[in-house]
Amino acid sequence: MGKLSDAIFSAGNFVANKIQPPAVILLYHRVTSLAQDPQELAVSPANFDAQLQHLQADYNVLHADQFLYYLKRGKPLPKRSVLVTFDDGYADNCLEALPIMTAQATPALFYITTSKLNTNKEQWWDDLERVMLTGNTLPATLEITINGAAHQFNTATSSAITDTYYALQAILRFCSPDVIDQAMQYLYSWAGCGADGRPTHRMMTFDELRAMADSPYVHIGCHTHRHPAVGMLPYTQQLQEIGQSKEILESLLQEPMQHFSYPFGGRKFLGSKRYYNADSIKACKELGLQMVCANYYGQVHTWSNRFALPRILVRDWPIAEFKSRMERFFKL
Ligand SMILES: [Zn+2]
Repeated sequence: MGKLSDAIFSAGNFVANKIQPPAVILLYHRVTSLAQDPQELAVSPANFDAQLQHLQADYNVLHADQFLYYLKRGKPLPKRSVLVTFDDGYADNCLEALPIMTAQATPALFYITTSKLNTNKEQWWDDLERVMLTGNTLPATLEITINGAAHQFNTATSSAITDTYYALQAILRFCSPDVIDQAMQYLYSWAGCGADGRPTHRMMTFDELRAMADSPYVHIGCHTHRHPAVGMLPYTQQLQEIGQSKEILESLLQEPMQHFSYPFGGRKFLGSKRYYNADSIKACKELGLQMVCANYYGQVHTWSNRFALPRILVRDWPIAEFKSRMERFFKL
């Protein structure tokens, strides 16, 4: 944002926060330590532990259903309310985050993408990293057709490969799941590697997911079946992608799903590209979902749109940085 829009945004929040104290929804993806993390999705277990300790000491961490209760009834959230959320359903959520949450008695809401649960396959953005950035000997150029458009990339040096990786990320995130699958199949044969993923990047097994759902500190929500930018899909496909993850989770866990988050979830307009749109909100309502999170910077008040709530992405911040950022999130 520019300086003027920043100032207008702050002034708007200042007025809003006089009327009602703000709440903040935090977004995590992974709690683990990785050899490399080009999407910066992992928070180290030590930082996560310190972050939760700080939240417990200085904030009011709510359960997902408490958070929903206030929003649905239009009742002001308690002062300094925080909701902790996780996207995607990585195995480390069960193996590394849950023990820390349990030790600190801190609840969180986990949004699960279902298509790769209980498999050794990686999410496509990780798979792309595996193919391109983990030392495979690659051809010097990549010619690939995606969605009917021909692309040519230089992959002769490691910095060219890194640039190509980020360029492909930017293209594929707005493609349909079928187009992404086709592109990945092509890349496997181009790089001469297989489709099996790394154990460090797998999603939860069904047993791990059930163990998560049994914890008093865990709420489960859905996050589509194959993780597309739903805003790029026609309404019926949006309904299908969101509905399929809801159905699978409800049948696995034998409990109704009320929560959903949009994959990627930013609301910036990138030409004709959208992570979600009015049809996405309509599909969530049609499916009976009660609370839906997006992924843009902002505070929550009871008048916020319950079908596109802002969330603040947490990076692998040491505790001092986390503390000062939390203060800022609440002031804005
Ligand atoms: Zn996601």
